[in-house]
Amino acid sequence: MGNLTELFGSMVFNDRKMQERLPLTTYKALKRTIKNGEPLDISVANAVANAMKDWAVEMGCTHYTHWFQPMTGDTAEKHDIFIYPADDGRVIMEFSGKELIKGEPDASSFPSGGIRATFEARGYTTWDPTSPAFIRDKTLYIPTAFCSYTGEVLDKKTPLLRSMERLSSAATKLLNLLGKTEVTRVTSTVGPEQEYFLIDKKMYDKRPDLIFTGRTLFGAPAPKGQELADHYFGSIKSRVAAFMDDLDEELWKLGVMAKTKHNEVAPSQHELAPIFATSNIATDHNELTMEVMKKTAEKHGLVCLLHEKPFAGVNGSGKHNNWSISTNTGENLLDPGKKPEDNLQFQLFLAAIVKAVHEYQDLLRLTVASAGNDHRLGANEAPPAIISMYLGDDLGKLVEAIINGTEYSSAGKTDMLTGVDVLPDFKKDTSDRNRTSPFAFTGNKFEFRALGSSLNIACPNYMLNTMVADELAQFYDELNSADELTSAAKALIKRVLTEHKNIIFNGDNYSKEWVEEAAKRGLCNFRSMPEAMAHYVDKKNIDLFVRNGIVTEAEIRARYEIELEHYSKQIRIEALTMIDMAEKNITPAVISYISKLSDSAVAKKQLSAAYSVYAETTLIEELSSKLEGFVKKTDALKNAVSSASEHAGNSLELAMYYRETVFSLMEELRASGDAMESRTAASYWPYPSYGEILFGV
Ligand code: ADP
Ligand code: MG
Repeated sequence: MGNLTELFGSMVFNDRKMQERLPLTTYKALKRTIKNGEPLDISVANAVANAMKDWAVEMGCTHYTHWFQPMTGDTAEKHDIFIYPADDGRVIMEFSGKELIKGEPDASSFPSGGIRATFEARGYTTWDPTSPAFIRDKTLYIPTAFCSYTGEVLDKKTPLLRSMERLSSAATKLLNLLGKTEVTRVTSTVGPEQEYFLIDKKMYDKRPDLIFTGRTLFGAPAPKGQELADHYFGSIKSRVAAFMDDLDEELWKLGVMAKTKHNEVAPSQHELAPIFATSNIATDHNELTMEVMKKTAEKHGLVCLLHEKPFAGVNGSGKHNNWSISTNTGENLLDPGKKPEDNLQFQLFLAAIVKAVHEYQDLLRLTVASAGNDHRLGANEAPPAIISMYLGDDLGKLVEAIINGTEYSSAGKTDMLTGVDVLPDFKKDTSDRNRTSPFAFTGNKFEFRALGSSLNIACPNYMLNTMVADELAQFYDELNSADELTSAAKALIKRVLTEHKNIIFNGDNYSKEWVEEAAKRGLCNFRSMPEAMAHYVDKKNIDLFVRNGIVTEAEIRARYEIELEHYSKQIRIEALTMIDMAEKNITPAVISYISKLSDSAVAKKQLSAAYSVYAETTLIEELSSKLEGFVKKTDALKNAVSSASEHAGNSLELAMYYRETVFSLMEELRASGDAMESRTAASYWPYPSYGEILFGV
C-alpha cells in the first residue's frame, strides 16, 4: 500500500496543503476562521477556492460538489463542472470564492417537515471551513451546511456547529471564572465506534427484504448462532481481511483515522473504530466511513449492512459515541486527574453532565430512536431503553462522599500480577467496564452506547453539547454572583449531585430489577420510537434549544414531523415487502412442496398399499395448517396497512398505529413463516437461509 504517512490524507485539502498553496496572510485568515470561528472575507474565500481548484485539477478532478446532510438521514451531493467558457471559444477551469461559499441545490425534494411549501424550492448550501474538503471519484467534495431560502435550518450539521459554539462559550466563561484565563476556546470531541455486517452479495441479491429494508423480515434461525462466542475478536477470514485492508486504505486517503478493526459478537459482524476528532469532523468522517464501507464491500463481492438489526436472534449493530470536551490549551476537561477529590473544576463539569443527562434523558433517548434501533434498545442486547449513567467505582465513591460529606478514599491502581515470569505485571484500571450502561464514564470521556449503527451522529452530539452548555451557563451565573467562589462551587456541586443522583446507576442495566428500580426513581422508559419521539416537542425541550439558539420552535416541530413520518414510512415499506414475499414466493413455495409430498404419497400407494406414507402425511398436515394461519395473517397485515390512512392526519398517532398494530402483525406473520421454513425442503424455500447468509463469507 505504499508509505502510510504519505498515503494518509492524500485526498484531503488539509492544513499542510493549505500552507503550501495559500499566501501566508490568506492562510492565517482562514486558520482564524477555523480555530476561532471568525467571519470569512470574500477575498480569502476567492484565494482558497482557487488553490483548492488547482489542487483538485492536478489530482485529476473535473467536478466539485457541495456535500451536505439533509434530514433524509443520508448525505447529499450535486456535482458541477469546473469549466467556464472563455472568449476564444475554448474553456477554462475556474472556481470562485462565491461558488465555494454558496451552492443552490433545489431544496424542494428534501424533507422539511412542512417548514416551507414546495414551490419555495430554493435552498442554500454554505461552506463549512472547519471540515476539510476532499476528493472522491474525481470530484472535489466540499462539506457544507444546508438551509432554506428563508433561512430555516434543513440539515444536521448546522445545529451541531451551533451547539459546539454554544458549548465553547459557556465552558470558556466558566473556566475563565475559575481562573483559567488562558482558555479561549473549548471543543467537543467524538470517537464513534462503528459496527456492521458483511455478507455475500450473491445471497443479498436473492433477499428482497435486505434490498428494500436493510433487514431480513423472514428467516428461521440457523442451527448455530453466536452462542459459542467464537466470532468475537476471532481471527479474521481472508476475504474479510482483504475488505478491511482496502477500507483502511480508502479511509486513510480521506484523512479518516481508522484505527481498530475486529470481529464482533454475531457471525459476519465486525467493528471499526477511528481515533477521535472534533464533533464536526468526526460526524463528517463517520458519514464518509459508512459510505466507503458500502462501496468497498461492493468491490469485494460483498454487501455491508448498516441496519441496526439485520438478523433476528443474533446481536444487532450499534455505534458507541465516545464524547469529551477539551480546551485550546490542550486540557481534557473530563480527565479527573490524580486527585479528583480536590479537582473542583472536574467536579463542576461532572456535575453539569450528571444534571444534563438527568434532566434531558428523554432527549438522549429520542435522539437514538428509530425503527431499526427499536429492535435493540431494551431488547436484551444493547443498552436498555432507560437512560442512566455509569461512573465506575472510583467516581461513584467520590460522588457518594460529596453527597454525604464524608471522607473519600480512592481504590487506587493496584498491581495486576500475571503469575507468569515472562509476562510483565501491570497496573489494573481502577474500575472495571460496565458494558450494559447506556452512558458510561470510561476514564476521561463518556461513552454514549445507545446509538444505532446507521444513525448520523450529528443529532445525539448536538443534543449532548446543547444540554451540557446550558447547565454550564447556569453554573456560571450562580458562581459569578457568589461572594466566595470555592465554597460556592462546593455547595453547588453537592446540591446538584444530590438532586440528580437518581440518574447514576452502576449495576446491571439488563436486569428486571433495574426496570422496577428505574420506575421508582422516576426515570423514563420509552420502549419504542414513537413513544420517545412524542417528547421532542415537550416545552422544556423546545425551551432548551430556543434558549441556546440551536434551532427554532418551528424547526423542532418540523424535525419531529420528519422523524415520525420517516418511521411510519419505514414500517410501511417493511410490511409491504413482507406481504409481497409472502404472497409471491413463500405461500406458492409451500403449496408446491405440499403438492410434491402428496404426489409422493399417491405414487407410493399406487405401488403398494403396504408402503408407509407417514412422513408425507405428517408434513402435509402440519404444513397445511401452518399455511392456513400464514395466509390469514398475511391478509390481516394487508388490511392493517390499508387502514393506516385513517390515522394520516396526525403523525404521532400514525406512527403509534404502525408500531402497535402493523408491527405486531408483522411479528406474528414472521413467526408463522419461519415455522414453515423449518419444515420445508431447502430446494423449495425461495430464499437463502440464515445459515447460508451468516456463515457464507
Ligand atoms: P474501547 O471503548 O473499545 O475500549 P477505546 O478506549 O480505545 O475503545 O476508545 C474508543 C474510542 O474513544 C476511540 O474512537 C477513541 O479515539 C475515542 N476517544 C478516546 N479519547 C477520546 C476523547 N478525549 N474524546 C472523544 N473520544 C475519545
Ligand atoms: Mg466502546
